[in-house]
Amino acid sequence: MSDCLFCKIAAHEIPATVVYEDDDVIAFEDVNPQLPVHTLIIPKAHYDHIGDDVPAEVLGKVFGAVGIVAKLKGVEDTGYRVITNTGEDGRQTVHHLHVHVLGGALMPIRMGPAD
Ligand code: 5GP
Ligand code: ZN
Repeated sequence: MSDCLFCKIAAHEIPATVVYEDDDVIAFEDVNPQLPVHTLIIPKAHYDHIGDDVPAEVLGKVFGAVGIVAKLKGVEDTGYRVITNTGEDGRQTVHHLHVHVLGGALMPIRMGPAD
């Protein structure tokens, strides 16, 4: 998609600090990190979000990169959280499928019980 920020990052048209890349996915540092480790993993192909009829093979590539990124970022033993925000209620702001890999410190607890 020509006007998609993450498509442009995947195509190296917009700079990013790349952590890992292969033919199918690219992982790069979040520009506004919420924890010491905050890396995003995206498929190079455009899907709006995880519910956008994403082929299982693509999901396998994206989630397969999580462990690689965790090792590269040194959090494979301390642990981390993987999040994919989806849609308005999920507070998704960039509409190209991405997973956040968050770690390097104990996860803050922000959510309370649902009403
Ligand atoms: P979302 O809210 O959609 O789940 O996550 C989007 C993430 O993309 C946010 O954490 C935000 O900081 C990050 N982000 C937005 N624009 C850019 C950018 O231009 N470069 C990078 N590296 N990250 C970005
Ligand atoms: Zn895109």
